Parts: sequence; C-alpha cells; structure tokens
Amino acid sequence: MSTHRPRAVVVGAGIAGLGAALRLHQAGWDALVVERAPARRSGGYAVAFAGPGYDAAERMGVLPELVERHITPDRMDYKRPDGRTRFSVPGSTVRALAGERALNILRGDIEDVLFTALSERTSGEAPNTVEIRFGTTVVGVEQDADGVDVTLEEGTVERADLLVGADGLHSATRRLVFGPEDDLRLDLNHMAGVFFLDELPDGVEPGVTASLTDTGRTLAIVSVGPDRAVAFFGYRTERPMDELAEGPQVALPRAYADMAWVAPAVLDQLSRAESVYFDTVSQMVMDSWSNGRVVLLGDAAWCVTLFAGYGSSLAVAGADALGAALERHPDDLPTALREWEAEIRPEAERKQKLGRQVKGLYAPADPFRLWLRDLPLRFAAYRPVSALLQRRLQLTS
Ligand SMILES: Cc1cc2nc3c(=O)[nH]c(=O)nc-3n(C[C@H](O)[C@H](O)[C@H](O)COP(=O)(O)OP(=O)(O)OC[C@H]3O[C@@H](n4cnc5c(N)ncnc54)[C@H](O)[C@@H]3O)c2cc1C
Repeated sequence: MSTHRPRAVVVGAGIAGLGAALRLHQAGWDALVVERAPARRSGGYAVAFAGPGYDAAERMGVLPELVERHITPDRMDYKRPDGRTRFSVPGSTVRALAGERALNILRGDIEDVLFTALSERTSGEAPNTVEIRFGTTVVGVEQDADGVDVTLEEGTVERADLLVGADGLHSATRRLVFGPEDDLRLDLNHMAGVFFLDELPDGVEPGVTASLTDTGRTLAIVSVGPDRAVAFFGYRTERPMDELAEGPQVALPRAYADMAWVAPAVLDQLSRAESVYFDTVSQMVMDSWSNGRVVLLGDAAWCVTLFAGYGSSLAVAGADALGAALERHPDDLPTALREWEAEIRPEAERKQKLGRQVKGLYAPADPFRLWLRDLPLRFAAYRPVSALLQRRLQLTS
C-alpha cells in the first residue's frame, strides 16, 4: 500500500468543481481548486435538481442543506402580451410533476452548500488538504507517466496526479488538452440570459413565476424568495456566437425590443444589473472525456443544456461517481476513469438527446407550435396528462 496522498488540481469552482473537490476529499485526495472569477459567484437561476444528482448529494451528506434552500412557486402564470393571464398552473401541480425526490433551487445556492461543506470538513486540517484559489486559471498542461504539471496564469506550476477540468461550457482545460471548442460544440441556436432584478415588475406577484412566450422568444420572471426575483430570457438565433460576442447589453435589448408585457421595465433594469449570465445554448460532443491524467466534468464535458434541465444534477452525480471510481481503483487511474465514464455517459447522452428534442418548446417558432406546447400545461393538473408530461420530460425514469 503506497503512502503517497494523491492530489488533484480542479479547474472551476462551479457545481462540478466544488462537487469534485468535496468528493475527492472524502476519497482521501488533496485538491487545489482554481477559479477564474475573483470571488465566489452567487445567485444565478433556479434549477430543477433531481435524479442521480439528488441521490449523489444524499450520499455526499449535503442533501439536508440543499433541501433547506428549496424554493417552489405558488403558481405559474402564462401571460399575454397585454399582461392578462392566459392560464395558470398551481404550485401543487408543479410540485406533483417534479416528483418527491426533486428540488427547485438557485444554482448559486447549490454552489454555496458545496462550498460550505468543503470549508467545514477541511477546517482544522493542517496543512489544509483542499485549497481554493480565486482569480487564476490554467494556461498550460503537460503530462508524463507519473503526474501532470498544470501551469497557472501567474506562472506557478502545480504538480498533481489528476487534473479535473470543471470549467464549464467554454472550458480552457478542454481547449488545452482536447482541442478547439469549435470542433466539439453543437449549438442549439438559442441564447439564454439571466439576471437578478432589484424590484419585481408591476403586475408580477411575489411567489409567482410568470412568463410570456411569443414566436421565437420567452421572457420569464421567477420570484425566488420574499425579495428576490430573476429575469430569464431565452430566444432563438441563427448566429449564437455573434450574439455572444456582442454581449447581453446589446443582444437582449435588440431581441426583445418589440416585446410588450414587462419587457421594457425589465430591460431597463438590465443596464444596472450587477452581473448577467449570457451564453449560447450548446452541447459538447466528445468521444472521450479523459486523456491520460486529465478528465472533464460537468458542462465542460457534456453540457446537456437548460433544455434538458439536468446539468446540475449530472455535475454532482459525475463528481460523486468520479470519487467512487478513484476509491475503487486507487492505484489504477486509467481503469477508474474508464469505469467512471461508462457509468455517466449513458445518462448524459440520454439527457443531451432530450435537450435536442425539446429545444423547440422553449421559444416555439410559430403560433401553432406555441399553442401545441401550452396545451398539456393547461391540463397539467389532470393525472393522465401529468403522467404523460413526466414521461416526456424524463422527470421519472
Ligand atoms: C438558464 C439555465 C437554466 C438551467 N436549468 C437547469 C435545471 O433546471 N436543472 C439542472 O440540473 N441544470 C440546469 N442548468 C444547467 C446547470 O446550471 C449547469 O449544467 C451546471 O451549473 C454546470 O455546472 P458546471 O460546474 O459544470 O459549470 P459552470 O456552472 O459553468 O461552472 C464553471 C466554473 O468554472 C469557472 N471557469 C470558467 N472558465 C474558467 C477558467 N478558464 N479557469 C478557471 N475557472 C474557470 C467559472 O467561473 C465557473 O465558476 C441550467 C442552465 C442554465 C444556463
């Protein structure tokens, strides 16, 4: 039995990166997490958290803290451009659709829970076995038979047994080790934009999620607590990377210029928003998620997209499965990574397929499709319809 304590460098302190650091620590690894942002991000958008990620969170011991952050809408209102409600789905139906082992939670709150768990479990350890370094990134990766050298932006070189690229859709780790993003990214021709509102627009009640979809675009206002609300924009485009380059302050006002309802008031808050999430809706298509001592995790590896509504869950499930595989094969990294990928890939590909299938539902291209989309939602309270929706959206397996 070797006395060497294995060490990982994890790039990215999102759900995948923090989940990996926590699970690797539980498996007896040291970890250095490097995060490009200068400090922890907060908030973000509300995500549905269920399935294998829910089970993994339970195994990792963080489920009670996640359950505490659960938020559920009192009602979902589907609006007309003039602000009148076309129809509503009661909160009880939304909860019944999601099922029992499912949470609705802010992305930032999942990160918060993982970060707190990491801090609590490593406090008092000397030397600290998990370090998180903000404001830096990876700029070089070199592997040999015994380890991987990770060069960070400031010039330091970190030696490790494993490099985990958990740096999201536009992963630098992936680019350095697996090649250019453009060769691996499948754009679903939509953009998503999200930011926190400093005030609820007139006509949107606290506790309610209200949305307006017209041809090719959706605006939703998601009330996520007594004084917190999120604006969500999702729209079709044939030129996603151009929109990304232009940025949210240019692209969103243009895409929603002629939308009525609360769109003008929400766009007015955009310019003073503290931070805006704005990205293409894209999947990663890769034959393998590891190369020697480098493994990709979460959106960096698969990115099932918001259309599948499962990325957070897969990120936590992937982190847990990675730790478990490393525990099973402490001295055989290739076997551990092979088994890990064989376990996660079928579910990730199933959800990627779902993402491609349901993409037309988010911002239907024509009024007929919009009517079709809304039809089952109007009747969602009836058991046969909710059972059908659960199957179609893979809310049950
Ligand atoms: C609008 C929207 C709604 C969604 N809804 C759901 C849902 O309902 N259910 C669900 O399960 N999932 C949902 N998702 C998906 C989910 O949010 C993601 O799949 C999940 O957060 C991925 O986590 P990640 O850690 O892999 O990536 P990210 O969250 O992108 O985290 C990557 C981290 O790496 C950092 N980073 C990036 N580049 C570098 C670099 N070069 N060096 C160092 N650090 C770097 C970033 O700052 C970030 O902290 C949704 C996504 C969106 C956009």
